[in-house]
Amino acid sequence: MTSVSGSINSYDLDGVITLGITPGPDDIIITGRSFEEARETYRYLHSRGILNAVFFQPRPFASKTRESSGAHKGMLLQQLLHNGVRVEKHFEDDEVQKQEIEKLVDIPVVHLVHDLTEKENVRHPYEG
Ligand SMILES: [Mg+2]
Repeated sequence: MTSVSGSINSYDLDGVITLGITPGPDDIIITGRSFEEARETYRYLHSRGILNAVFFQPRPFASKTRESSGAHKGMLLQQLLHNGVRVEKHFEDDEVQKQEIEKLVDIPVVHLVHDLTEKENVRHPYEG
């Protein structure tokens, strides 16, 4: 089900969705998590009933940085917008990544300011 305007929103995962914020049906998740972390990430999301498309960072976990995560998100948003996907805004908790995204795309990046989760690289367990 697409919204009336045909536009969607984009969500960071850690520090945004993990806080309890839930994306809408056609919204997308752009995470700084590495493709290597896909398994535990889908497990977590599916356990919460979140089935939205997830775009992982195409870098190994060990070489990620907050800057590379932000650049990944910005480049992906750029590609989507270029291809006609109407991404209205992105929700982000990391100010470093917000800056990187804003270098690449001209959409509002909604900054969720809190100290409840780490913004640095954290490895997530498989949880079974
Ligand atoms: Mg985050």
